[in-house]
Amino acid sequence: MTFSGRLGPDAIRTRAETDVVVCGGGTAGAIAAIAAARTGARVLLLDQYGRLGGMASTGMSFLGVSDAGGRRALGGIGAELFERLERLGAALADRPDRQVGSVTVADPMVLQQTLLAMLIDAGTQFLLHTFCAEVMLEDRGLHRLVVANKAGLELVRARTIVDATGDGDIAARAGARFVLGRTPDAAMQPVTRIFRVAGVDVGAMFAYLRAHPDQMDLPERWDGSSYTSDDLAAASVVMDAFPALVAEARQAGEFDVPRDRIGVETGPLPGVVTINATRVHGIDGTDPDALSGAEIETQRQMFQVFQFLRRRVPGFQHAWLVDAAYQVGVRETRHILGEYVLTLGDVLGGKDFPDAVARGAYPVDLHDIRPGADVLGSRVDGGGVTLRKIVRAYGIPVRCLIPATIDGVVVAGRAISASHEAAGSVRGQAVCMATGHAAGTLAALSASGGVAPRGVAVGRLQTVLRDQGAILA
Ligand SMILES: Cc1cc2nc3c(=O)[nH]c(=O)nc-3n(C[C@H](O)[C@H](O)[C@H](O)COP(=O)(O)OP(=O)(O)OC[C@H]3O[C@@H](n4cnc5c(N)ncnc54)[C@H](O)[C@@H]3O)c2cc1C
Repeated sequence: MTFSGRLGPDAIRTRAETDVVVCGGGTAGAIAAIAAARTGARVLLLDQYGRLGGMASTGMSFLGVSDAGGRRALGGIGAELFERLERLGAALADRPDRQVGSVTVADPMVLQQTLLAMLIDAGTQFLLHTFCAEVMLEDRGLHRLVVANKAGLELVRARTIVDATGDGDIAARAGARFVLGRTPDAAMQPVTRIFRVAGVDVGAMFAYLRAHPDQMDLPERWDGSSYTSDDLAAASVVMDAFPALVAEARQAGEFDVPRDRIGVETGPLPGVVTINATRVHGIDGTDPDALSGAEIETQRQMFQVFQFLRRRVPGFQHAWLVDAAYQVGVRETRHILGEYVLTLGDVLGGKDFPDAVARGAYPVDLHDIRPGADVLGSRVDGGGVTLRKIVRAYGIPVRCLIPATIDGVVVAGRAISASHEAAGSVRGQAVCMATGHAAGTLAALSASGGVAPRGVAVGRLQTVLRDQGAILA
């Protein structure tokens, strides 16, 4: 049998080399591209989709911008983004919270536009609708990517590459060592499709919760005083609520999602809430077949949860579904191993490192690996989620951003070098923005200095990051 086709070297077009290519324009990658461009690099930002902001653009609140002791952990470009959004009336300032540090909410549409404006102002070039599929390694140096898009295959060349794909796709293709999910069984946190509903009578929802105080936990401020539901109605709330209503619906055969309460987040838009309630266990987000199944199942669950809200939850009777996340949300896949692996002890102990390039304060947020499964040595807390607060923000060493065995690539976002448990905190949006900032600046310094990322002097990197407003200690 003979085959004909164009899969030889001639089938691949070659793009002119640039200083820094950022793969993935999500939570970490968009910030990394701004950072690299502001540090003087010519930057090309690639993404498989046509929009930027990744999971941070789906309407979820940013927890842990400050730690549970009230100390700010996120500065730099991430903080600048929130300041811009506040000036536009599209974000509410951090609300102190003793469990999750702080809650910052933003309008996801304005967030996307603001990120785009910051990227354009910084001089970033874009290559969207482009999937990074393969890499070409020279010895241990990674400077070439094979991407696929409407025009076929293309070779993209850069002095330094930032892997901000969330899954560590680039580093893994290059042969970097990684751990998938939890050690030793490779189990991963469940996946969830986030969606938003509008037309919610938030006052009626809180009136119900006031009359049924067992249907939500009221959070506390940093000083330990409890919020009232009136405080939250006027600001923002992130809650797991309505267990009795979920139980009734399950009893009536209307609800089969493996969650016993509904995650509800209010934001700056009147009557619009973000819902975090769908859940599929046992999905490997690096397996396209598993991912396809999860896309279908979470869409089915989304409509079921929406119907439940309309039918049974006070305040939602006239609500409608306005927005579903662009893809199923994957909490965890690969952890790319650097010369240091961040541990649960580091994260909960607020550890400082001499080579810190970012800080984290998002709580350790672990969802049940299997329904009701053990997390951190105990049964999961209510709602299938175990949260551990970060009393003092921890440092993230630059060694967690550089794959141990290859050169030319820096990792940003949820795939950085951390254990399964520590990654429960590192994956928070504010932390991903901080590691994105550090990775982009490191990549630019590596490209301009003609050295591998591990060859960039840490002191110099820290000075540039501090000058850019990043908080390192
Ligand atoms: C369901 C769910 C709920 C969460 N809740 C919260 C919350 O309430 N608060 C909070 O702070 N955090 C929350 N998180 C965590 C947080 O949203 C994410 O961990 C974080 O946003 C990940 O950032 P990232 O930049 O690493 O990845 P992403 O934001 O996912 O960005 C990755 C980008 O890379 C692109 N990409 C991926 N692979 C390729 C490829 N091969 N080629 C080209 N492009 C590619 C994607 O299109 C995407 O734009 C939640 C996460 C999930 C899944």
